[in-house]
Amino acid sequence: MRQIAIYGKGGIGKSTTTQNLTAGLVEAGKKVMVVGCDPKADSTRLLLGGLAQKTVLDTLRDEGEDVQLDQIMREGFLGTRCVESGGPEPGVGCAGRGIITSIGLLENLGAYTDDLDFVFYDVLGDVVCGGFAMPIREGKAKEIYIVASGEMMALYAANNISKGIKKYARSGGVRIGGIICNSRNVDRELDLLRAFSKELGTKLLYFVPRDNVVQHAEINRKTVIEYRPDCNQAQEYRNLAEALINNEDFTIPTPMSGERLEEILLEYGLMETADDYKI
Ligand code: ADP
Ligand code: MG
Repeated sequence: MRQIAIYGKGGIGKSTTTQNLTAGLVEAGKKVMVVGCDPKADSTRLLLGGLAQKTVLDTLRDEGEDVQLDQIMREGFLGTRCVESGGPEPGVGCAGRGIITSIGLLENLGAYTDDLDFVFYDVLGDVVCGGFAMPIREGKAKEIYIVASGEMMALYAANNISKGIKKYARSGGVRIGGIICNSRNVDRELDLLRAFSKELGTKLLYFVPRDNVVQHAEINRKTVIEYRPDCNQAQEYRNLAEALINNEDFTIPTPMSGERLEEILLEYGLMETADDYKI
């Protein structure tokens, strides 16, 4: 069983990419559980066809401690197991608590069965701190991918997240498996992401193009693979799944200084050309 945490800046496409990747994996015959670790609780919506999934924290609040597995875990696309940790009301309490509670409860209720090939933790946040480090802190997820794009803030967040990973990699067996680029159609984005990943001591696992079919599928509460199995983007997600299955490069990240990050951005991303200022 490979337990994988997905990190990345908010809105970068973690939940979308995780679910579409999961669809690719289950289609290839893998057994997958997705544990949403964002109080937004939208990590499994596309796999569940939009079914309102009651979060672990809400279930505990309403039902008390005596909870059965089928109350917090629902089956989605091709048997995918879906869990949403949930969180406190915005601004109240530690949002990481839901993750801690959920993982503990899933363990007690026997959710981590041997037939599972992959467990994904879709974790919010720009930094790996406190509760949000839980999936890796407790040695649950040993493999990490960061979703990023060629935009400066996405790379800045990815570098910060790597600092957190490095800390836990020293004390435990946590490793980074690569960067997944979720394209924003930035100039020279592929080259930039390759250079950034290399500097970070890892590799670009896959470059996912930006495509409107992702939104169309989302409005229809489906992954792209379920919504338009024959379109190009569905094949991209299958290729991403294949890249993940075959990945054997796991490293301790080497985060860079702010100056070095800016240097790389200047070299590949933000280099001005005369054309930028044509009127
Ligand atoms: P996160 O989980 O990182 O906060 P989401 O997965 O919710 O981000 O993605 C934010 C938005 O970006 C979603 O509404 C989704 O439709 C859109 N999106 C994500 N990936 C793509 C893509 N490859 N092409 C087009 N739109 C995308
Ligand atoms: Mg999300």
